[in-house]
Amino acid sequence: MSTRPSRISAEVDFERDGKQVGYLRLPHSSNISAYGWLGIPVAVVRNGRGPSVLCMAGNHGDEYEGQLALTKFIRAVEPAHIRGRLIILPAANLPAAMAGTRVSPIDDGNLNRRYPGDPDGPPTDMIAHYIASVLLPMCAAVVDLHSGGNTLHYLPSALTREEPDAARFARSMAALAAFGAPHAYVNPPGGESRTLLAVAQDLGLTVVGTELGGSGAVTPHTLAVAEYGLRAVLRHFEVLDPQVYPAEAGRPPSRILYVRGDQHFVYAPSAGLFEPCFTLGDEVEAGQLAGHVHQIDDPARAAQPVHFGGAGMVICRRAPAPVQRGDCIAHLAEDYDYRS
Ligand code: CA
Repeated sequence: MSTRPSRISAEVDFERDGKQVGYLRLPHSSNISAYGWLGIPVAVVRNGRGPSVLCMAGNHGDEYEGQLALTKFIRAVEPAHIRGRLIILPAANLPAAMAGTRVSPIDDGNLNRRYPGDPDGPPTDMIAHYIASVLLPMCAAVVDLHSGGNTLHYLPSALTREEPDAARFARSMAALAAFGAPHAYVNPPGGESRTLLAVAQDLGLTVVGTELGGSGAVTPHTLAVAEYGLRAVLRHFEVLDPQVYPAEAGRPPSRILYVRGDQHFVYAPSAGLFEPCFTLGDEVEAGQLAGHVHQIDDPARAAQPVHFGGAGMVICRRAPAPVQRGDCIAHLAEDYDYRS
């Protein structure tokens, strides 16, 4: 990570008790604003000693449950409801969130592929650097609320990432279970190292994320999973007062799943229209037909079959029917027998 300081300044004082809502000012000199700044919304709610937790959404701009849940939570939460400190970023990549796009329209930056960032880079890299070098080191845990975005759709799930440190992994698994989503899954270690959860894990934080729904939409159910889970995991971290935000009795435990590597992912082999023959939640076998790619401009040509490479449950599917070669059509997860 760059050792140069961030150029972003905070309107809020992270060390002050009480509730503050303001902006992270990101200097942005453009054709329409020579000396301007982008205001990335931030809230700090602090009440004495206790753990610090970063709650974040808008890492991808087209994933809305987390943005809504955190915006509503900022209005609802009071310092008396918590112990310690909550730092809330409801729209971390603000230009992407305002445009309703995965990546920033300003610099084409995919925030969740830019960590640990660059203080002198384009805006998305500056945001990544501020989060990784200023916010994460203040915190013991991070909650990063994602959904499927415009091109994917998930079974509402919490997620975390496997790591070699057994004690830290156990803390993340406990937070995953506490979130209380219908499904929860674990990503294998290694893999993508440029995500928020990857850099947070490198810093020793407890990490929990979500994939709540998608197709660029929000439903009452997916938003309810986000709002319940946010409160439940903050109770679990002993930041949120259970008297004010009580747990729901009798809520069923999450079904815990594990995503293996490539065998659990299905990609379009060619461009065309994809006709699926599965739905979210289906249990499939290795080699089972997933669907066909059709060439509507060449109707005499046989459709190209696509098969699942591994066995498991379909937890994610592509939303749009048109595909290009290499698009992820679906991914699977298998039951995970975790014992801490
Ligand atoms: Ca995402």
